[in-house]
Amino acid sequence: MDTWDYRIFWNEAMDQFSRELSEQEYSMWFNIEYDSSTQDSIRIRVPSSFYKDQLTKTYQRTIETKLFELSGKRLGIDFMIVKPSTETHAAASRPAADRLPEASDRVPATAPSAPRTKEKHPQLRTDYNFDTYVVGENNSFAANAGIAIASNPGIAYNPFLIYGGVGLGKTHLMQAIGNRAWDLNPKLKIICISAEEFTNDFIHALSSHSITAFKNRYRSVDLLLIDDIHFFENKENSAEELFHTFNTLYDGNKQMVFTCDRPASELKNLSERLKSRFERGLKLDLQPPNYEMRCAILRRKVEASALKVPNEVIDVIARNISTNVRDLESAVTTLVGYAKLVGKDITIEIAQQLLKDVFSQSRHGNVTIEYIIRLVAEHFKVTGNDLKGKKRTKTIVFPRQVAMYIAREITEYSTTELGLEFGGRDHTTVMHSCQKIDELLKLDPTLDATIQKLIQAIRQASIKN
Ligand code: ADP
Ligand code: MG
Repeated sequence: MDTWDYRIFWNEAMDQFSRELSEQEYSMWFNIEYDSSTQDSIRIRVPSSFYKDQLTKTYQRTIETKLFELSGKRLGIDFMIVKPSTETHAAASRPAADRLPEASDRVPATAPSAPRTKEKHPQLRTDYNFDTYVVGENNSFAANAGIAIASNPGIAYNPFLIYGGVGLGKTHLMQAIGNRAWDLNPKLKIICISAEEFTNDFIHALSSHSITAFKNRYRSVDLLLIDDIHFFENKENSAEELFHTFNTLYDGNKQMVFTCDRPASELKNLSERLKSRFERGLKLDLQPPNYEMRCAILRRKVEASALKVPNEVIDVIARNISTNVRDLESAVTTLVGYAKLVGKDITIEIAQQLLKDVFSQSRHGNVTIEYIIRLVAEHFKVTGNDLKGKKRTKTIVFPRQVAMYIAREITEYSTTELGLEFGGRDHTTVMHSCQKIDELLKLDPTLDATIQKLIQAIRQASIKN
């Protein structure tokens, strides 16, 4: 983002205060108006210096804490004194441009709970909501932005692009935004589909001569959620159609949310103009969860199963599965399935036994020693068998040491395990090889570049397999 606009967080903070504080306190002290944002602060207007002093003393810290919870950023507050002309009421004076004309009108927090249709949205999974979405370091900003967007679709951060690796919660978050928006305003027209469904729908419309209906359908929504837009690579026609849909919705201040497995700029065979539009609003990546977050997710999933799982089991899973949330989930499913089947409690031994394969795969990623040996051998123009064999000529010993060094760097195999993989050598040989390369690295800067290049090639080859 080039310009900073935290208004959406400000509005959400005020909404929450209006619920949390007494009506009297809120209307007395929160007679304040958003003015503008800088990179790390929000400027607000207050009607007098008395106000400013009181707010600073009593509420500044509370407001800043709330803003931090919502935005994940430490935002300061600047007060600007603006004497009111006639009436200054925060709610009344929100700029008109802030508001969308019809469907997406925000639901006033203090309104008596309006009767809500409990009807399920056909494209939204009810279990993918914010209540079931565990928030931690890797996703708090994304989750809070999502909540803010769902409360005020189309106002800021349009479009919202969520990207990141598989199983990190992109679909869940996108659907949660849809569910929250739908909950707050059941009149909202929402379409939530995958890029593939969009493409199929488009092809069907073409073949059934119903393209006008197709265009009308997609261009009249208030909230468009499209999952996995990397699917549009090489789909020139449907991407072109999406481009026009995008422009119409964008001009009408209608909210769009997209997910992608990488930054849109890295998509191939997709027009630059569409890529730049995907990245026009707020783009955030979801990182793999850290240990605490993995434990929290596991606990949540275990609770949902109503099964008792000791903490040490949670710990061993969280330590061994670090790649993504989907793998954590399937570990729990495996354990729960087993426990129900045999009617036994889960112990750490049972967990380790049941999840043995998952653990070892996750620990080493997809990288196998075979790969490392093959690629290093190819690079040095020797054979894999040379590296595993007994020959001690210099042209073979050096590549062998490099292969061991790389294996030690990028897998979690122990030196004993590595010794076995390299033709049944002793672990001290592996340690010695790694030390040797470490020393050479200090003397020869080109070796570092060679090793980094090899590591990259090995990783890439492993991802594809
Ligand atoms: P992605 O779309 O990034 O591949 P998903 O949204 O499909 O990932 O998430 C994979 C699984 O993990 C889903 O079942 C989802 O509910 C769960 N999940 C992901 N992130 C979280 C989270 N933060 N809290 C709870 N469950 C999560
Ligand atoms: Mg997904």
